[in-house]
Amino acid sequence: MPELPEVETIKLQLKRKILNKKIKEVIVEDKRLIKGIPAQKFKSQLQGKAIKDIFRRGKVLIIKLEESLFLIIHLRISGWLTLSQTREKFSRLLLKFADNQVLNFCDQRVLGEARIVRDWRSLPIIKNMGPEPLELKKDEFVKLFDGKRTKVKPLLMDQNFLAGVGNIYAQEILFCAGIHPQRSAEKTKKEELEKIYSCLISILKDAIAKKGSSVDTYRQIDGSQGNYIPFLKVYQREDELCFKCRRPIKRKAIGGRGTYFCSHCQK
Ligand SMILES: [Zn+2]
Repeated sequence: MPELPEVETIKLQLKRKILNKKIKEVIVEDKRLIKGIPAQKFKSQLQGKAIKDIFRRGKVLIIKLEESLFLIIHLRISGWLTLSQTREKFSRLLLKFADNQVLNFCDQRVLGEARIVRDWRSLPIIKNMGPEPLELKKDEFVKLFDGKRTKVKPLLMDQNFLAGVGNIYAQEILFCAGIHPQRSAEKTKKEELEKIYSCLISILKDAIAKKGSSVDTYRQIDGSQGNYIPFLKVYQREDELCFKCRRPIKRKAIGGRGTYFCSHCQK
């Protein structure tokens, strides 16, 4: 599932390519992707509108159009976006621009979402969202954990606690910080939370610089893979040697999610 670094990469790349371009034609190949309004209305609202701005909140991409409309794209589990000259395989929604470039919303399993709203801040998924990690100061991050009794890993992945971190980066952050994925929040000291914070910021920034991790269907908008996979320290490295202690990395289902960690380095 695309997380903050992947959606941020898509945002930055689309901004360079489609800002101020006018949508000439909208093709809905699969209505299941369109939420909130009928597909026909969705099409007529988009047609002829220019792209005014593109931003991101958590894992959600927000495209500002003329007339204060916002196209909200949530890639969820298996969606990806490409900008090309043609229709792509698994394209469920196509936006054609006047210069014949096509923004393809591809999703083999059709679990993603596209919707048009006027007030994007009041969408439930965004209204309840926690702070943006890259806008948080260290003491603000530590304060988020006040009174929390759950485990650290699911907390980091809880979008209402902190926006944008999912299963891959939560594991990488905890390995970097030396914290076991089953550690509970109330047993984590202030210095350890500060370490988690510094790992969170450095890993997210590094993953953005390397254009994200293509562990699944995620692609950059030109269709190429992100470059962060060789830098993953634990994710999908079961039985391979830990980069810190040379003992094998373990895998365990925690909260229903496959979790990789080093039982020697993470306490
Ligand atoms: Zn280790």
